[in-house]
Amino acid sequence: MIIDDRHYDVIIIGSGAAGGTIAAALSEAGHAVLLLERGGSMPLADQNLAGVELFRKDRYHPNERWFGTDGDPFAPQTIYAFGGNTKIWGGVLERMREREFAGLPLQERQAPAWGLSYADMEPWYAEAERLYRVHGQRGSDPTEPQGTAPFGFAPKPVEPFLSALADDLQRHGVHPYRLPLSWSESSRDPSGDAELFGVEPARQRVEVVVRGGAAVQRLHVNPSGSEVRGVEALIDGQSWLFSGHQVVLAAGAINTPAILLRSGSDHHPRGLANGSDQVGRNLMKLQLTSILQLASEPNDGRYGRGFGVNDYLWGDQNVSFPLGSIQSGGGVLQDALFAESPPVLSLVTKLLPDFGLEQLASRSITWWAMSPVLPDPHNRVSLRNDHIQVNYRVNNFEAHDRLVYRWIDTLKAVEADPLTRVVRGAPTHPRGEAPLSAIGYACGTCRMGENPASSVANLQGRTHEVANLTIADASLLPACPAMGFGLTVIANALRIVEGLSSVLR
Ligand SMILES: Cc1cc2nc3c(=O)[nH]c(=O)nc-3n(C[C@H](O)[C@H](O)[C@H](O)COP(=O)(O)OP(=O)(O)OC[C@H]3O[C@@H](n4cnc5c(N)ncnc54)[C@H](O)[C@@H]3O)c2cc1C
Repeated sequence: MIIDDRHYDVIIIGSGAAGGTIAAALSEAGHAVLLLERGGSMPLADQNLAGVELFRKDRYHPNERWFGTDGDPFAPQTIYAFGGNTKIWGGVLERMREREFAGLPLQERQAPAWGLSYADMEPWYAEAERLYRVHGQRGSDPTEPQGTAPFGFAPKPVEPFLSALADDLQRHGVHPYRLPLSWSESSRDPSGDAELFGVEPARQRVEVVVRGGAAVQRLHVNPSGSEVRGVEALIDGQSWLFSGHQVVLAAGAINTPAILLRSGSDHHPRGLANGSDQVGRNLMKLQLTSILQLASEPNDGRYGRGFGVNDYLWGDQNVSFPLGSIQSGGGVLQDALFAESPPVLSLVTKLLPDFGLEQLASRSITWWAMSPVLPDPHNRVSLRNDHIQVNYRVNNFEAHDRLVYRWIDTLKAVEADPLTRVVRGAPTHPRGEAPLSAIGYACGTCRMGENPASSVANLQGRTHEVANLTIADASLLPACPAMGFGLTVIANALRIVEGLSSVLR
């Protein structure tokens, strides 16, 4: 094993939404930071792939197999690169709504409260939106949090046919709003990401060492098991050992628990920081269903997400429990989630030559229906002979079904309207639920809370059992938000930096 003789103030593991953001914030404060990332730099052309290739190659799947609920191996859609999953995200950066922090009364049962309020997070949301250059327009979404200052950047332009469709929806009493989007304003790069806004600024600082191709295997503790003394990473086939005053785990909701489970010792027989047996449990994955609508005129299938609809967020005319949110999807040839789902599209791509997919894309307008799920201790990440095993059964699916049917009814009403021009009626609206492999919206596997018996880390992300170990990524979320939570991960990471700074002074 090669031992790095430098001692860092902080070692950060993973450079995605949480890790990249923390690297920038800590380095700006002048701390000596080592950022370990298992991937490398993803070329611009790869990250913004827009074409049939998105479907044909095994794009955006690392050369790794995980085991699913049925015991069979599967290829997860996850990015190992500087920036992590933000390299291919839709860039929609939403704040959680105030009442979500108290725990939503979902159809099956009440979701857990966060132990934090919206007011606790508000300053960090504002900072996160500034850092990630979120472009948007306040005031058009009736559910948006109260008293929020305007976005610093005007909304990103959307395709004219989407604007026309938003007008059509408005005529039918729907309240579409411009999605808040992270954007660098570079025409070559349709979204901002954690490499651009996190890793790159950190890299400019002399106190910071950024190492790509460094896959952290396990953490080593002192003889009493109370502190991490060494971070072991595999670099070019060689084992390296790094040491730091503080260690921040930000390897994402699947790999963070996997690293902890691999790091068991005499003092931590079930895995590091796992006295509560909660490491890896309570995996939540936003429920996602894509819905296709027939466009009247061809489009090029290469554009980003544009509008959201939260009219059914808290329920509808029939039920008073939350259903979820709707987003206009990106073009079929650009929104990476479509390559994973729905199966109906994947099937078409296998059966038809390139032209078929281009044609399908050019005639489609896409939507995503998103609903929260509840934490369930049986939904978990564990290890099977050192490989990742994911056991997952969806819950709260009736609420999601209602959302999907409600939205299809709305689409049908708009299509039947003689004033509508950009979409046309169709006998069916093809739709498909995202499969287990679409794992990008995972959270909850090392949840934070004040009670060490039921959580892995406290509300500052500090693990209950290991003094210098902090968790900072999506695995901390105690409940699943009703829409994408990338901004919440970033804001929470910034909040965690404040706590870390106090032990680094
Ligand atoms: C196709 C797609 C579209 C999405 N669109 C949106 C959207 O529009 N809005 C939204 O809010 N969210 C979106 N998401 C979800 C969002 O990307 C995640 O919620 C967010 O990135 C989670 O941040 P994280 O820091 O927890 O993990 P990640 O961003 O995944 O970062 C984890 C990092 O850790 C690294 N890593 C893993 N294991 C190790 C190891 N052993 N050693 C070293 N490094 C390691 C990884 O390579 C990665 O860089 C999308 C996700 C996908 C996949």
